[in-house]
Amino acid sequence: MAKAKIGIIGGSGLYEMEGLIKADEIYPDTPFGRPSDVITVGNLQGVEVAFLARHGKGHRISPSAIPARANIYALKQLGVEQIISVSAVGSLKEKICPGHIIIPDQIIDFTRGRKSSFFDEGIVVHISLASPFCPVLSHLLWEKAKKLFPETHLGGTYITIEGPSFSTRAESNLYRSFGDIISMTAQPEVRLAREAEICYATLCLTTDYDSWHEGQEAVSTKMVLQNLKEGVEKAKRIIAQALPLISKDERKCSCQEALRDAIATSPRYITPEVKERLSLLLSKYL
Ligand SMILES: [Zn+2]
Repeated sequence: MAKAKIGIIGGSGLYEMEGLIKADEIYPDTPFGRPSDVITVGNLQGVEVAFLARHGKGHRISPSAIPARANIYALKQLGVEQIISVSAVGSLKEKICPGHIIIPDQIIDFTRGRKSSFFDEGIVVHISLASPFCPVLSHLLWEKAKKLFPETHLGGTYITIEGPSFSTRAESNLYRSFGDIISMTAQPEVRLAREAEICYATLCLTTDYDSWHEGQEAVSTKMVLQNLKEGVEKAKRIIAQALPLISKDERKCSCQEALRDAIATSPRYITPEVKERLSLLLSKYL
């Protein structure tokens, strides 16, 4: 099976990476089911990458139904150590204009009922999410992004809502007091990537001012799709430039040992079944 150390998760508007020289297409079964779509493994800018369309090609899977655990687990199976994700977002702040790219450093999770941990049966694991996005990977993406697009923002809080509807005006105003951008998919991906000890950073493509801005039309699907094309092209350019740099060095951040002190269950109470099912994640510690 082909391997790749870098994963790319494409969101709305990004269903394939042009220039990716395809080596393999994989649709693996994981303990958490199958991923959103076939994962394309191949070479992009001289770097082995694994590409997955979060909503499936053709945008078939609603945010609430994305098999996030299978997606992250499948990428881990392929050897992925760092994930760059791409998301369309609404802006909750005047200064973050439609067309701007933002690389957030914090996230608040307002999703409901999504399966958001690999460790929900037979073992208790509490990872740290104080810095939910990999600071090293985020900074590297920002350095490349700001050279191409000087209006790129580094840092900010991403509000994750359940969807699939957009927010009411009252909700949008409430979220404005909590964060900077809003969308429906970064959680539970961020948490799961950390549980899998994978670095995760996201390029957010601002398409609208959500529902709060009195002087602008409220967000609609049509508006998002219209404004997304340019953002997706920007994201592709940033990724193409960042890839050789990301793949160059060994990881120095703490993402790679997120589980080291996070397993609360006494080893003698962890059954062989649990060890077997989660061996990809746990074997280095148990
Ligand atoms: Zn990291």
